[in-house]
Amino acid sequence: METYDALLASIAPASGETRTILDPATGQAVGDAPIHGVEDLDRAVAAAQAAQPAWAALGHDARSAALLKAADAVDRAAEELARLLSREQGKPLNGPNARFEVGACSAWLRATASIPMEPETVVDDGETHAEMHYRPIGVVGAIGPWNWPMMIAVWQLAPALRMGNAVVVKPSEYTPLSVLALVSILNQELPDGILSVVSGGREVGARLAEHPAIGKIMFTGSTATGKAIIRSSAGTVKRLTLELGGNDAGIVLPDADPKTIAEGLFWGAFINTGQTCAALKRLYVHDDIYDDVCEALTTVAAAMPMGVGLDEANVLGPLQNRQQFDIVARLVEAAKDSGARVLLGGNPDPDQPGFFYPTTLVADIDNGNPLVAEEQFGPALPIIRYRTVDEAVAMANALDVGLGASVWSADPAEARKVAARIEAGTVWINSHGGVHPMIPFGGVKQSGYGVEFGVDGLKSLGVPQVING
Ligand code: NAD
Repeated sequence: METYDALLASIAPASGETRTILDPATGQAVGDAPIHGVEDLDRAVAAAQAAQPAWAALGHDARSAALLKAADAVDRAAEELARLLSREQGKPLNGPNARFEVGACSAWLRATASIPMEPETVVDDGETHAEMHYRPIGVVGAIGPWNWPMMIAVWQLAPALRMGNAVVVKPSEYTPLSVLALVSILNQELPDGILSVVSGGREVGARLAEHPAIGKIMFTGSTATGKAIIRSSAGTVKRLTLELGGNDAGIVLPDADPKTIAEGLFWGAFINTGQTCAALKRLYVHDDIYDDVCEALTTVAAAMPMGVGLDEANVLGPLQNRQQFDIVARLVEAAKDSGARVLLGGNPDPDQPGFFYPTTLVADIDNGNPLVAEEQFGPALPIIRYRTVDEAVAMANALDVGLGASVWSADPAEARKVAARIEAGTVWINSHGGVHPMIPFGGVKQSGYGVEFGVDGLKSLGVPQVING
């Protein structure tokens, strides 16, 4: 069993430049993170290159066994990891937050270890015998965001390791400690050099994307950065999996029961205080039940406690950083200025320490309003009225992103018909945002390309090779 202090000590930089990370709920120091530069990155990549062939030679069974042991190590340190995550990211321990995220890390490691990966015979007709194999790529770069820093790191590194690659992780500069701590725990069970973290800024990410010894980038973050990575990886024709921004629509059909769906709608939108890629970010409700849905959602939302993450009572936390707080505040002000009706929230307390923005619901808002058209990535949900399903589908599909979406109805078969018309990588029925380690997940349009999870996700961390003959 780790202690919290021992965990922090295990990642404390021994030398070099450091940066103090502040708790977004209190402004207090959480710990010091190293400031790594491109030379540190080059060293990590060289070590990964040196270690990777032996790791690849172990084969699937031995690598899976190592991932299972790494999952056990995460479970042993779970509470300390959750506390660090809560303090650095801001998310509460309880609810679908810090403890949930750490639990997802070990669950994803185990699931990734358990997926069968055999060569496939693609043609065997007596004349031709062709087999498809998936060989290791070599060294994979994993660049992550600050909203689910540990879980997303595992989504990237676990399949990469399983497929025989070494991994260099570049966490967000907002949440390096969580990823440094997670990797130090994983490395209790992995050979040296196979998995490392370079805790640097954008220039380190950019170097990773252009590095000649990196064969693939797993990237999760904004669409703007995704485009920068496409450009900087072009010179070396890197493989890319891009999980980018979204602006997920939810469509509530007129037969839905407002009270039954209210809690699901709430968590679909406000999980991680709205700082979730596939959160419900625009809610379209049929005119017949618009007022009832607004009322039921307001009742649920008003009862959800927001505050400092280490307080066991809270299920919502602060925004992770000032920049994101300012985006949410700007979008809600624009909505108010346009005459939209604020049902709840919308008035942050200027005297409250931390980046707390209250849970906010905005009704009678136009579809073209910036709070609808832009990704808010925070606790402010616009609720748009519609009159025909065609109109709702057209509004849902009008943006250039398409990560997730949802349809809410008492008739799942009818909901599935509407779902088929929505341009998104996943459409949930009567829920929003749930992910599963065996179900492929990825975006369409400018939400990215490639899928994670399941056998398709694993294959994307290998190089396909046909043996013909
Ligand atoms: P971001 O794009 O600002 O940063 C993500 C990472 O990219 C950070 O580690 C950053 O240092 C790095 N980076 C920045 N510039 C770079 C460059 N030029 N080259 C290489 N790396 C660079 O994103 P963020 O603000 O941390 O995350 C929020 C965004 O991520 C939201 O848009 C959200 O929707 C999206 N997101 C998507 C998913 C998904 O699965 N599709 C999941 C979580 C978050």
